[in-house]
Amino acid sequence: MMTFIEVDHVKKIYGMKFNRSTAIDNISFVIDSGEFVGIMGPSGAGKTTLLNMMSTIDKPTFGHVRIDNQDITQYNEKKLSEFRRQQLGFIFQDFNLLNSLTIKENIILPLALDKVNVEIIEAKLANIANILNLNNILKHFPNEISIGQQQRVAVARAIITAPKMLFADEPTGSLDSKAATELLKYLTDVNEKQKMTLMMVTHDAFTASYCKRIIFIKDGNIFAEIRRDGSRKEFFQKIIDMQAAIGGGRQ
Ligand code: ADP
Repeated sequence: MMTFIEVDHVKKIYGMKFNRSTAIDNISFVIDSGEFVGIMGPSGAGKTTLLNMMSTIDKPTFGHVRIDNQDITQYNEKKLSEFRRQQLGFIFQDFNLLNSLTIKENIILPLALDKVNVEIIEAKLANIANILNLNNILKHFPNEISIGQQQRVAVARAIITAPKMLFADEPTGSLDSKAATELLKYLTDVNEKQKMTLMMVTHDAFTASYCKRIIFIKDGNIFAEIRRDGSRKEFFQKIIDMQAAIGGGRQ
């Protein structure tokens, strides 16, 4: 397997002098191309801080993050935003859809920003709208569709550029269990068929059970790591056991 992301002795310190606090304390690990990795841990453990540093949104105080052999911690803001747009996809818990744009405009926004040819945009949109069953809502606005539909639109927007890597922060956080299961099946499909590398932060054991490997974070350090080698149900139980071992109240 080829390494896709390398987190190399990464440390994140917030604040100055007397109110300094270490959110991530010297973490190193790699994610291989095509993996589906979950990040779990109690509230305040450093999950979002880690995700943000790996996804170019924030920079480590010390250490390096390399994606596809490129040291993104050395990039300036302009180069970073281009890299982010072309190589990475994001799904956020609250979707971040733009209310003044139609569903179609929301989905094609990343391609339009990159000035991709209109015919190519239309072809990509048609393909993704079919797969995610969005055809009858393309002319609507975000506030006219259901939460489950908004989630599918967010997924469409994240993957229309065919990113090499998809980051998701609590992607099932506002979904009911039926919509969550549909989304997780779809993400599994994208991971297995298109070989897209996935990393997802979640506190939910059911959601995490769709991952192939989970890294547990506690107090800014790696606490444990588990891999799925049997059924999803067995993995779910392993996750619950690890959550009990890690403690720390609300996860
Ligand atoms: P998690 O996602 O696991 O809940 P976070 O990454 O949000 O954890 O936070 C890790 C620690 O860093 C917490 O103690 C939090 O209070 C602190 N923290 C997060 N963001 C900031 C910030 N912008 N400024 C100062 N402290 C922060």
